Amino acid sequence: MRTAVLERGARMTEEAWGDLACGDQSLLHRSWRPGLIQRGGIRGLMAISGNAVGGTSQLYTAATVRPQAEIFDAGWPAGWRLERLEPYLDRVEGVISPSTMRCDLSRTRLLEEAGRAMGGNVRRLPLAMDWPNDAQSVAHAHAPDTEPSENWRKALVAWLRGGRVARKRTLDRTYLAQAEAAGAEVHPLHEVTKIEPRSGAYLLGLRRWMGTSWVTDAIATRKIVVSAGTLNTVRLLLSCRYGFKTLPKLSSAVGRRFFTNGDFGGLLVVRREDLSLDSGPAVTAWIDLWRSDRMYLMETGFVPVMQGWFGRATDFLTSPRTARQECLTKLWSVGVMGLGEGENELKMDRDGQLWFFRGQGGQGFAKRTTERLRELATAVGARLLIPPNLVMGRRAMTVHPLGGACMSDSPDSGVVDSSGEVFGYPGLFVADGSILPTAVGAAPSMTIAALAEHVSAGLMRRR
Ligand SMILES: Cc1cc2nc3c(=O)[nH]c(=O)nc-3n(C[C@H](O)[C@H](O)[C@H](O)COP(=O)(O)OP(=O)(O)OC[C@H]3O[C@@H](n4cnc5c(N)ncnc54)[C@H](O)[C@@H]3O)c2cc1C
Repeated sequence: MRTAVLERGARMTEEAWGDLACGDQSLLHRSWRPGLIQRGGIRGLMAISGNAVGGTSQLYTAATVRPQAEIFDAGWPAGWRLERLEPYLDRVEGVISPSTMRCDLSRTRLLEEAGRAMGGNVRRLPLAMDWPNDAQSVAHAHAPDTEPSENWRKALVAWLRGGRVARKRTLDRTYLAQAEAAGAEVHPLHEVTKIEPRSGAYLLGLRRWMGTSWVTDAIATRKIVVSAGTLNTVRLLLSCRYGFKTLPKLSSAVGRRFFTNGDFGGLLVVRREDLSLDSGPAVTAWIDLWRSDRMYLMETGFVPVMQGWFGRATDFLTSPRTARQECLTKLWSVGVMGLGEGENELKMDRDGQLWFFRGQGGQGFAKRTTERLRELATAVGARLLIPPNLVMGRRAMTVHPLGGACMSDSPDSGVVDSSGEVFGYPGLFVADGSILPTAVGAAPSMTIAALAEHVSAGLMRRR
């Protein structure tokens, strides 16, 4: 099949990363200018996603794990069990080749200590990463920058790419590279704005970035696979149904059954001497609390923000430089994800603005999240810096948005059938996080990729 990938963001070449590190490229995506990081733009929800060839794999922390069998217990189309997804999970594993780090870091050991105290298994995570030949180099701290406050961009770029010495296997280096080698065309800086059925095919409204401004364009195609990521796919489908009215038969379930994957996090101040900075990837391990709480606590590294404005506002303010470096090793971030929230909804108002509405239930899970973070802090003699319950009651947050264009047996409860084809629109498919009918509760990228493998296998059978 002749295949074209229309991607709103840029290609992340070495040069593009360099431009980003020195401030010549914009970091944030805006409607009038492309950038790497998209803030959700949704009222009531704090969300972040990637905007580049390779999608959010350019931002993600590369934990590549299989889903728990339990998530298929309810909400999925008939016949969907983990066993059905397994051949596709195997294929994803073959393409992405995740592996665990071979080096021992002090933050991993710290998590293991906490895990033992909390009665949860600590698992070193398989990461989509190319490791350096010298495995131990990951453990060495990088030399502090001379003017750290000016180099936050460099630090961010290093973090995004997998740390100072490892390199993330982003999807432009795996799936998309294979697709291009097989003849697919990838068109960066092409944003799809509208989908309209026309004489047995579809007309795609789009705009192309010409370096200083966008120009509008359109192309016709027989088949479309929408993979714009959960939030952008739901936004596009809602605007085609209610705004442009080009897809009026789209199920009214679009936007419903939206999940934040139980995402939350905490910052811990750890006052200990046995910790050291390292050059490793953003995440190394998580505490598996699935059996007791359907939850994971993932360590996401020591945060070097003490060097900037945040540091100046803390009680470490007056420390000499060497003492400040010591303090750096003690601000530890932990991400939480799990299964237990209610079914949320995304709605679009007349101005095209998306709104997040929190579903019923889920309070018990939120409470357990806070309790477990506090237990973690106690287990390692740390102080929880941000009381999560203060944030919890207000805006929801997610880096793992899922659902909103769910797979279902019927258009009454979902938007696509179990092959990913949109009800009422033959030839229009969705293959991204939005088709998940439940949260994963764990890092979801492998499940999303496996479902995309399933959609593409079906599409090939029917071509
Ligand atoms: C900081 C961070 C850390 C994460 N860490 C992990 C992790 O360790 N493990 C894990 O499993 N998951 C992780 N995730 C989540 C994971 O990255 C996402 O779940 C996954 O990438 C979603 O895949 P997707 O195909 O649904 O969409 P995406 O990867 O978001 O891809 C969608 C693509 O479509 C493009 N696009 C959007 N709108 C349009 C349009 N109108 N026209 C053309 N192109 C468009 C976007 O630019 C983007 O490139 C993380 C996410 C973040 C933000």
